[in-house]
Amino acid sequence: MRPVVEIAPGAWFVQRDWLSCNHFIAKLPQLTLIDTGYKDDLQETIAVLRSFDVEPADVDLIVNTHCHCDHAGSNRYFIEQSGCDVWMHEEEKRRIDTRDDIATWWRFHDTWADFFKVDKGLRENDEIRFGSLVLQVIYAPGHSRGLMILYAKDLKALFSSDAIWQGDMGVINPIVEGEDALDRAVETVERIEKLNLEVIYPGHGPIIHKPKPVIDRLLRKLERYYQDESMMHMDHMKKMIAYYVLTQGRVKEDGYYDYLLRSVWFPRMVDRYFDGRYESTYQAVIDGSLRSKMIVRDNGYLYGAGKI
Ligand SMILES: [Zn+2]
Repeated sequence: MRPVVEIAPGAWFVQRDWLSCNHFIAKLPQLTLIDTGYKDDLQETIAVLRSFDVEPADVDLIVNTHCHCDHAGSNRYFIEQSGCDVWMHEEEKRRIDTRDDIATWWRFHDTWADFFKVDKGLRENDEIRFGSLVLQVIYAPGHSRGLMILYAKDLKALFSSDAIWQGDMGVINPIVEGEDALDRAVETVERIEKLNLEVIYPGHGPIIHKPKPVIDRLLRKLERYYQDESMMHMDHMKKMIAYYVLTQGRVKEDGYYDYLLRSVWFPRMVDRYFDGRYESTYQAVIDGSLRSKMIVRDNGYLYGAGKI
């Protein structure tokens, strides 16, 4: 069962399992889907829509919180089926418009999506209206330079995408998002802290009903990153490995290290943050991921454990 909450008449939040993101679906005034999920999970995304009596050809508008492939990966399919428009923050639009497969993280992390046309770039304080429900755009850089979150002031509700989850947030990637990515992420969480909020609908994982302690906990985690930045980079690498293993179903350990050496992200991160110590860093990442039960080892293979 997918948890579903009707947020306003004709507007729902749908929680999904990893890898794909959670969704927001609204029927009025036009059929709108916020984030389309990972492209390999397309059939599941279509099943989500059909549970609301919506066919892919009915979609009028896609709004993306950002351009990562677990949020925008099925955009191309829906555009082909329905000719729908796509809106996202203008910073993120620029990355798609220029076909930048590093800034979108697709080539950087070997997590691919198809490029598509973005019809409108949004900015801070733009509003998206669904009948009586008004979502206000808040620019929320950090995890991604063009991340936006959506605030329903009247409902004291926030669609937080990857800016905050229950107990965590999306990874912080200074190589792609700029050296100030951690500063931007902290500013974003501090802005969230100042909003009048009763509930947060995150981009992944369960609904946050008591935002205050969750926000405080995340701020403390980010503070620890300032004290020891290697924690942040290790967390990033563990999540990327868990993500890859989930995308593949299982990964044969023999040969995986060589695959990582040929990737874009692993050598760049190890060169920058771990003095080029590839093999020992690989061991530390795998051991850490096994210890924190993000992945499981069995008979020469690594398996995902269901979450990032
Ligand atoms: Zn993301």
